[in-house]
Parts: sequence; C-alpha cells; structure tokens
Amino acid sequence: MKIHTAEFVISAPTVEKCPAADRPEYAFIGRSNVGKSSLINMLTGRKGLAKTSSMPGKTLLINHFLINESWYLVDLPGYGYARRSKAQQEELTRMIKSYVCERENLTCLFLLIDSRHKPQNIDIEFIRFLGENGIPFAIVFTKADKNRSGELKRNVKGFLDKMSEEWEELPPHFVTSSAHSDGREELLDYIDEVNRSLN
Ligand code: GDP
Repeated sequence: MKIHTAEFVISAPTVEKCPAADRPEYAFIGRSNVGKSSLINMLTGRKGLAKTSSMPGKTLLINHFLINESWYLVDLPGYGYARRSKAQQEELTRMIKSYVCERENLTCLFLLIDSRHKPQNIDIEFIRFLGENGIPFAIVFTKADKNRSGELKRNVKGFLDKMSEEWEELPPHFVTSSAHSDGREELLDYIDEVNRSLN
C-alpha cells in the first residue's frame, strides 16, 4: 500500500472524545521508548508525524491520524514508564483498557515489542488482557537493526515460544527496523489486506 496522505486529526484524552468510529482503525501501543513514534513515522513516511519522545511517557493522549482518507492510524500512549506516579499509571491503564475494549472500529491493535529484550511481564500481562477480551492484535518487533547477528531470531523465537505457553494459535507478527525501513511493506500490506477484507 502506498501512503498518499497522512493527516493529524485530534488528540483525545478519552475514548469518548475520539472521532466518529466510521472507518477501520489500527492502533499502535507498547512500552515507553519501544520505538512507537519512529515506527509510525517510518510507516507513514512523515518524519514528524508522531512526536519521538524526548521525555518518554509524557503524553497521555489518544492521537488519531487519517491515512489515505480511508483509515485511522492511532498512536496510543506508551505504558510502563517507571518515572510516572502511581496515580498517573493507574489513569493510563484505565484509559488504554477502555479505548481497547470500547472502540468499536478498532480493527487491529499492533503491540510493539523491543526485539532486543527477553519477554517482559508487563507485555505478557497486556497480551493476556487482550486475549481475555477478544481484542484482535498483532505483534510488531522493533529495533531489529540493534541486534547482534543471531540475536534477533533468538529473541523473536523466545518471545513467540513464551506466548505459545498460553496461546494455541499465535497472532501475526512483524519484524521491523525504523532505522532501515525494514518491515514497512509487510505491515502496510497487512493493513491493506485487512481493509480489503472488510469491504
Ligand atoms: P517511543 O517512546 O516508543 O515513541 O519511542 P521512539 O520512537 O521515540 O524511540 C525511542 C528511541 O529509540 C529513539 O532514540 C529512537 O531513535 C530509537 N529507535 C526507535 N526505533 C529504532 C530503530 O528501528 N532502530 C534504531 N537503531 N533505533 C530506533
């Protein structure tokens, strides 16, 4: 899929303030600093579309972008930022869970996982929550270029093996590097394919 247009629409503090749920929506989420803004900018080919975080974990807003005048790309706040207060973390968790469960046009949630790390509890617990609530999702491994040779495959397999302990069938997964634009076509083609299947 080619990206012809990518426009910022609105930053909403709650799911109720989001735009009308009148087109397919693909949201991106992951731990703070996972590479979410870089991935969104790489996918859309617009450098400054999502703000890369000089202060990780700062924004608590649901950011909508309209792509090709036909589907929404949503940038959700990063979770698991250690320096957030407990009250802020709870508010964030509430907001993310309500968006994910109540947004009726959410077509696929892309959960970003840093490909350099061993499976983290916070991600595994979030995946469990998605499963329990029947949310359609896919895994996007980020920062592939930052691995030493052999490590990338091992880490991706390690994460999927960990998921297999609880899941009979694994969701789709993508391996990406925003620095090298790896995985861009695969991800955009997947979105395109899902969009076509909805028509
Ligand atoms: P966010 O907090 O999840 O939005 O993460 P950012 O997109 O701001 O990225 C966090 C840091 O990781 C920044 O310093 C990025 O330049 C870096 N980064 C993100 N993606 C990649 C990647 O694919 N490769 C490399 N080498 N660095 C990346």
